[in-house]
Amino acid sequence: MRAVTFQAPGEVRVEERPDPELQAQDDAIIRVDATGVCGSDLHIYHGRVQIEPGFTIGHEFVGTVLEAGDGVTRVAPGDRVCGTFQTACGTCFFCMRGAFHKCDDSRTFGHGKVLGSLQGTQAERALIPHANMTLRTIPDGVGDDVALFAGDVMGTGYHAVEQSEIKPGDSAAVVGLGPVGLCAVQVAVAAGAAPVIAIDSVPQRLELARSFGAFPVHLTEDNPREAVKGATEGRGVDAAIDAVGHPDALDLAIRLTRKAGVVVAIGVYAEPCQVHMGLVWIKALTLRSGHANVIGHVDRVLGMLASGKLDPTPLVTHHMGLDDAAEAYALYDRREAMKIVLSP
Ligand SMILES: [Zn+2]
Ligand SMILES: [Zn+2]
Repeated sequence: MRAVTFQAPGEVRVEERPDPELQAQDDAIIRVDATGVCGSDLHIYHGRVQIEPGFTIGHEFVGTVLEAGDGVTRVAPGDRVCGTFQTACGTCFFCMRGAFHKCDDSRTFGHGKVLGSLQGTQAERALIPHANMTLRTIPDGVGDDVALFAGDVMGTGYHAVEQSEIKPGDSAAVVGLGPVGLCAVQVAVAAGAAPVIAIDSVPQRLELARSFGAFPVHLTEDNPREAVKGATEGRGVDAAIDAVGHPDALDLAIRLTRKAGVVVAIGVYAEPCQVHMGLVWIKALTLRSGHANVIGHVDRVLGMLASGKLDPTPLVTHHMGLDDAAEAYALYDRREAMKIVLSP
């Protein structure tokens, strides 16, 4: 089969790889029908996240089940399925408490040895461990481009909003309108937040946020702090989401949030990050962090995608063939695409 492999920083290649084979009773093999290129893939492409040369990348996928082990009960060969970017065992201390994203035995697709040596999904076929946990059948009427978001980007937007404890009528701010930020905007609007203040410096992203029902605020041409004050009788928003993963974004989220509010850092952090802890403390903020519990949310997210409450279709800017992966990564790296969907 063909697979997109990491070679060196700035270089991916389509290579021949052996077809995957079932290894455990609860494994499945899928034919990949569509697979996304994600911001996390770009960290690998840049060499910031280090993986072995030749490793197959990719972790957003929809496909068709080809084979399933005897222990797989929730999906069967022929089923059209989508999956989550990471696996969970379902039985460890953390899984038993619903924290599937912190499973002791978790593996992430396409992230090399450090995250469980699980080959990625930018390939013609993929091995899916713990298929009962990792895969879901796609509801009728939900297209590949939409289902692709359930187990990663929209699941992450959902997680950010769930962590923010937003209730109908609460105000919210989302800092950073990449795919995850824009999905968080959609979920916050669907959750009844009003207003949802969406902050970025790219006009097209602000326009998308507006079309999703948010109030767009330009990071530098407008004044986010004044905009938030004006919309909240000077208090600050009930919850703010940092969808960037940069100290400046987190600092802004902290400043935009009202006393006793919630700040969610859903953007990726890998290094020490200096924020004004005195401000967090004096405002009695709740600060939550970590990547999304996509397995915990995927059924609800699929339900909202099926009903049309959430619709990531406008985020898909490019459809390309798997063989065009090198071009797709270069394009994404130049920030000329929002979401690229590759078809094997
Ligand atoms: Zn991703
Ligand atoms: Zn577990």
